[in-house]
Amino acid sequence: MPYCTVCKIETDYEYDIALSNGDFLHYSCIILLQMRKHEIETALQKQKSQLILSLFVPNEGVDQENLPAAEGEDLRAKLVKVNSILTGLYDYLPCWPPDWDERQRRVIKENGSICSYCGEEQDVYLVHDIPVFEGGTNALDNLTLTCAECYRGTYREADIFGTVTLKPAQSEFAEQFADIQSAIDNAQRIQFEYKKPRAKRWRTRVVAPERFLNIPNSRASGETLCVEGFCELRQDTRVFALERMQALEIIED
Ligand SMILES: [Zn+2]
Ligand SMILES: [Zn+2]
Repeated sequence: MPYCTVCKIETDYEYDIALSNGDFLHYSCIILLQMRKHEIETALQKQKSQLILSLFVPNEGVDQENLPAAEGEDLRAKLVKVNSILTGLYDYLPCWPPDWDERQRRVIKENGSICSYCGEEQDVYLVHDIPVFEGGTNALDNLTLTCAECYRGTYREADIFGTVTLKPAQSEFAEQFADIQSAIDNAQRIQFEYKKPRAKRWRTRVVAPERFLNIPNSRASGETLCVEGFCELRQDTRVFALERMQALEIIED
């Protein structure tokens, strides 16, 4: 069994978080860290308001004996520590991290509000360079800014009118492709084994497929053939690369 990277106690493949660097993490451990962060922030805020109060009402508000000056520094040091642990975990979460807006502000501060695709200065959004399902992380070196127009150009819908010609480089997926297309046409669910990059184990997924997507990549084929659909395991819409599937079956209801 894999061990939690925070508490070093065993985790469960099905219910805990598989980080994209191969580590595992308990849901409860990340929640405890977030609560700890909140506690420290609340204590710092309380200290600050007592200090402000003492400026206006001398000898009230601040209890000098209970609040030595060092405590504020101590709390700030603890906050820096818990933040750096959380950021390190968020870097490898297999989804968008809770501090996404903060990451966006940081990247904009460093690079300006400039789209990295068209080079124009305008409203930009933070996106992953390598998508999370292809093994990309949330670390700053995998994040890039894009304007709305360039972002729409990133995900190309492969099938709008029901006719798709696979590229020669994608011919190895012809059989899976035909099965998935038939499941989409007949509103059936599919089941397959799926392995994420760096994951050690194949896991069974049951998905209601909705459409094909071709996502640009830097490899020879130039694109990764994917299917988007509702995943019963995650209870959410997810994108799956055909090259990471095996043992595909249509579920006959
Ligand atoms: Zn843990
Ligand atoms: Zn742009």
